[in-house]
Amino acid sequence: MSQLIAAVATPPGTGGVGILRLSGPGAAETAARVFRPVGKTPLTQVPDRQMLYGTVQDREGRTIDTGLAFVSRAPHSYTGEETAEIQCHGSPMVLSLALEALFAAGARQALPGEFTKRAFLNGKLDLTQAEAVIDLIDAETPAAARQAASRLGGALSRTIGRVYHGLVDVTAHFHAVLDYPDEDIDPFRAETIAAALETGLEETSRLLATYDRGRQLTFGVPCAILGRPNVGKSSLLNALVGYDRAIVTQIPGTTRDTIEARASVGGVLLNLTDTAGLRETGDEAERLGVARSRAAAAEARLVLLVLDGGAALTQEDREAIALAQEAPACICLVNKSDLPPVLDVEALRGQFPHLCTVSAQNGEGLEQLGPMVAALFPPGTGSEGETLLTNARQVEAVSRARESLERAGEGLRQGMPPDLLLSDVEEALEALGELTGRAVREDITSRIFERFCVGK
Ligand code: GDP
Repeated sequence: MSQLIAAVATPPGTGGVGILRLSGPGAAETAARVFRPVGKTPLTQVPDRQMLYGTVQDREGRTIDTGLAFVSRAPHSYTGEETAEIQCHGSPMVLSLALEALFAAGARQALPGEFTKRAFLNGKLDLTQAEAVIDLIDAETPAAARQAASRLGGALSRTIGRVYHGLVDVTAHFHAVLDYPDEDIDPFRAETIAAALETGLEETSRLLATYDRGRQLTFGVPCAILGRPNVGKSSLLNALVGYDRAIVTQIPGTTRDTIEARASVGGVLLNLTDTAGLRETGDEAERLGVARSRAAAAEARLVLLVLDGGAALTQEDREAIALAQEAPACICLVNKSDLPPVLDVEALRGQFPHLCTVSAQNGEGLEQLGPMVAALFPPGTGSEGETLLTNARQVEAVSRARESLERAGEGLRQGMPPDLLLSDVEEALEALGELTGRAVREDITSRIFERFCVGK
């Protein structure tokens, strides 16, 4: 398989600009077969990242567009390899013909994520940074984007690095004393290992406690819209999402199944589920919908309870109220504020500290929702100071590291010999190494040589 990969880097569809990327040996030369500069300097001889203006050719050498191109030579590129980029117009046809021409010139289609994988393999990014690239691309709120950007800049790697390097130091010191008895190395002490273990436990526990917020930032807050049929749940979902995701009709029970959509409200990503209402009915499909509604309400971290402000409370409303009150957080929306008020809103305020009157139909009052959601689920600033764990892989590795550190701490208290404790410390190192993709053995060995000047 060719080592030279190429892909269209811009999204499918038409746009102002379309970008083709190449990475691997011969990237500049292959790009030069498809891109002809107007000036005299060929793409293969231009300095790094200097743009050239020229024409883009198809595989038969016919001009199909004009555009810009540049090259970045190894190791000063995103992937760490020689790379080239051609920017042309965002025409799917031009991009497809140009890509075909690059394939004819020896490149092959890049696999999904292959540019970033190469960046990792070439030491340009560690694994937490590679994951941050995906999170940044997928970010749906400003806080999620800032958090991903901070991890891409190495914030999580640095936090993990502090624990990791402390433990590598301890391990290297122990091995140096043991393996090089003739060298003049300070003796290994239990206090040194105790201090490193304590720091490690503190940092890993602190990191694990951030996952709740990290998950909220990446995957959204599970949020159920509850209320009896016809109060305006689907209208609310549509208003929050900003397009007609759910069908709105006057016939109660239109939303037979649950409908899911994501919306950013007050800078918080909500995973909205529009439930089918809670009406017990003979209709099989509707009955299943009701069961799903109850399940969605039970899993929700936030319930948006919708009541019809233009009508008196019914038994079904009371059931919805009871269910909503069981949720960890609830906002009561008294809907249809455009109709003459019937419902006693003041009486409801006692039950629901977070309450607002709105009209899902014309959008009136919906602006109150953002600050309420943000107060209940602070999106945070996503700044460097608050590095969060954002996926299960990271949590699994940090938990494993913490368990190993706890075992080592317990062993220390029971007076176990250092070599037994250090096997737990090394397990913690392995787990942290997996998190960032480091080769632990090599790190310990090189630390012995740099720090203790062994074998000079
Ligand atoms: P759901 O069954 O709770 O999902 O309710 P829908 O969103 O389908 O709405 C039921 C009916 O109430 C529809 O005819 C909507 O147009 C109407 N409706 C929804 N919100 C409002 C509102 O704010 N004001 C008024 N006047 N009607 C509304």
